[in-house]
Amino acid sequence: MFKQLHGATLAAQAMGRIHAPYGEVVPPIHVATTYERAPDNSYPHGRTYSRDANPSYDQAEALLAALEGGPKALLFASGMAAATACFLALTPGDHVVAPRVMYWGLRKWLLEYAAPRGIVVSFFDNERPGQIDELRGLLQPGKTKLVWLESPANPTWAVTDIAAAAALAHGAGARLAIDSTVATPVLTRPIALGADVVMHAGTKYLNGHSDVIAGALVTAREDEYWQAIKYVRNAVGAVLGPMEAWLMLRGMRTLFLRVRAQSAAAQRVAEHFQGHRALTHVLYPGLGNDPGHAVAKRQMSGGFGGMMSIRVKGGEAAAVGVAARLSVFKRATSLGGVESLVEHRASIEGPGTPCPPDLLRLSIGIEEPADLIDDLEQALAAGQPK
Ligand SMILES: *Cc1c(COP(=O)(O)O)cnc(C)c1O
Repeated sequence: MFKQLHGATLAAQAMGRIHAPYGEVVPPIHVATTYERAPDNSYPHGRTYSRDANPSYDQAEALLAALEGGPKALLFASGMAAATACFLALTPGDHVVAPRVMYWGLRKWLLEYAAPRGIVVSFFDNERPGQIDELRGLLQPGKTKLVWLESPANPTWAVTDIAAAAALAHGAGARLAIDSTVATPVLTRPIALGADVVMHAGTKYLNGHSDVIAGALVTAREDEYWQAIKYVRNAVGAVLGPMEAWLMLRGMRTLFLRVRAQSAAAQRVAEHFQGHRALTHVLYPGLGNDPGHAVAKRQMSGGFGGMMSIRVKGGEAAAVGVAARLSVFKRATSLGGVESLVEHRASIEGPGTPCPPDLLRLSIGIEEPADLIDDLEQALAAGQPK
């Protein structure tokens, strides 16, 4: 028996699978949409039609399940397809609790689409020190079916105690699902902390190269909720293309290298700009004085992630001006790629956003950190009175 291999080893080798008949160390891409029935009317290979599943998913799903410590994973057409499947698997009238600061697209969908169709949503203020007590107060035993978390949460990187929230959810008879896109399985393993389902926008760190839209869920157990999620993926056809699945697995081979480098660089950038005269805040859970630091230190290991935000003195116009003067950082939405990106979040989130208007979100890539620091320094200096 081999000892349990580290996630970095499993990822680098994509589970170490070798493919018949040629002994390939990289999997083939399976493009067939349909499979032949045997004369006895059975499907001897267990495959029917590729809206149900595609063999190109198998290795990526197995790797993700292994990294998260769950029995099964499912790939989806996007992060949103994976996240919304968790809610579409509920029943009208079910109550869910979600954080106020979270991935904007999902918050918007919950408010504009899910709520009018019968999902009852309560939000807790995940930026407050007393957030766990507020969460406890919102749970309605028997009616609350799902507690949704995101930690660190986009775009202020508020941290929530996953183990405490899972214990509360379970006490009320609810499941806990978490958007762990930013933490990645490199830094946080929510299932070990009590989560029932872990969601990833594979578009971000898992793929890591800003060239695939993908999503994934990993379950802690194959229960009826997981069966309902599987049903949703098939029924709405929220399936990933085989090429995209292959690219995402290719990206995941360097996941640990990238995320460790990006976390170390973000830590360095955050420490450098903490207290900068042109900024009011540096938001990063790796900073000792960050409100989420103590909990992040307990539930993250190996770093605090590659995402951070800065709040610029002088408000929205000053923040947009800083973004305009950056050149190494590219002005674009999305995150988790090898190239550093900057985004004025309030512009894309629009009216009703809880995102402060003076906030710039930084996705730290794998460039030389000194180049990122110099770029930010010149952009901030040019906005200062002489
Ligand atoms: C991007 C993102 C999503 C949505 O993923 P898509 O692949 O764009 O649908 C969800 N959650 C977080 C935290 C994200 O960054």
